[in-house]
Amino acid sequence: MRPEDAEPAPAPRARVRLRRGRERPIAEGHPWVFSGAVEREEGPEGAALAAVEAFDGRVLGVGLYSPEGRIRVRLLGRAADLAVDAAFFRARLERALELRRALVPSDCEGYRLVNAEGDGLPGWTVDRFGPVLVSQITAAGLERLRATAYGALAALAPEAAILHLGDLAARRGEGLPAADETVRGEVPAEVAFRENGLSVIAELGGGQKTGWYCDQRENRRRCAELAGGRRVLDLFAHSGGFALNALARGAASAHLVESSPRLASLAARLLAANGLDDGRARVEIANAFEWLREPGEGADLVVVDPPPLARRRADAERAARAYKDVNRLALGRLAPGGYLMTFSCSAAIDARLFRQILFAAAAEAEVALQLLEPLGAAPDHPVDVAHLEGEYLKGWLARSAGPR
Ligand code: SAH
Repeated sequence: MRPEDAEPAPAPRARVRLRRGRERPIAEGHPWVFSGAVEREEGPEGAALAAVEAFDGRVLGVGLYSPEGRIRVRLLGRAADLAVDAAFFRARLERALELRRALVPSDCEGYRLVNAEGDGLPGWTVDRFGPVLVSQITAAGLERLRATAYGALAALAPEAAILHLGDLAARRGEGLPAADETVRGEVPAEVAFRENGLSVIAELGGGQKTGWYCDQRENRRRCAELAGGRRVLDLFAHSGGFALNALARGAASAHLVESSPRLASLAARLLAANGLDDGRARVEIANAFEWLREPGEGADLVVVDPPPLARRRADAERAARAYKDVNRLALGRLAPGGYLMTFSCSAAIDARLFRQILFAAAAEAEVALQLLEPLGAAPDHPVDVAHLEGEYLKGWLARSAGPR
């Protein structure tokens, strides 16, 4: 065996003892141990892993340890002797890849390869954009094991370049460094790939790594199915994911509203790259909240896809008002019989609250709104059934039945 093939020695483990009565969610499968549930903890400096014990000392599982985090442990498995080594990462990654092979349509080269808890790999997301893998590690314990994790990822996709993103709010909360790193291969500033048969671009460099939102892929497809002959309004358009799909399937027009000039010009490039710069599209650099308050023409399909307006529970009330306002204003533009596709990607706004927000928006807009289909993230974003927090993207396809 060559030295580089040798397994590193098993990572030292901390022990995290829960307070009395706090084992129930863990026993039922919830993958997080919050700091408030911890009675005491002990362990070697720099421990990547922790064994989680009930108040009576029973081992409940082994997980990634975040000594500074509000989420103190993210469970990887229930066995007390779980080995978190190269074989462990290889097995979880292979399982993740198998799911994508089964689910991601053949006209898509961009998808989420690893969706954290939903793939049994908490604290880790990996997006594939054509030949590049973009990785986000947001758990201190995983950062300590990153050589092993990235080794397994590289073995799974030997031809891919790997970019590690550092400048993330979630990493700051864990005390992790903010620098981006190229883990492997050559990472270009942007990468072109196909989604729903269209040519799109993910930005990888330049400080603002907004990348590309593959969670909306199936909703863009749904938008395209409804777009024929319709005037489409794509609010919070980013680089125009929804509008491109709509125009490609025969939308009469598409009006994109995006506050970032850089993304608006990227949208214009993508329209041209797909031969959709035929005069049907208009790209507006504007604050959508303000833009909607100006008088403007009607639309037959309105997409409302704002950035997360609530980052934390404490913001939920203010954010709820903002979601209500933008949906009320959007309904003001929607012609009777027209469709609304509206989303919230804030984890702090749950599905029930979002439903109430739409009710309030329709009541204020005096529109009879028919809810047609609940919408969510594409299935390459699996969610662990025990992990409600993983269900961040929620939305509705709705139809205006006209004035109420
Ligand atoms: N619909 C897009 C993703 C939207 S992400 C897609 O399919 O890919 C949210 C977008 O809203 C970002 O591009 C962000 O730059 C933009 N944004 C944020 N605040 C805004 C505002 N007040 N008005 C318009 N756009 C805004």
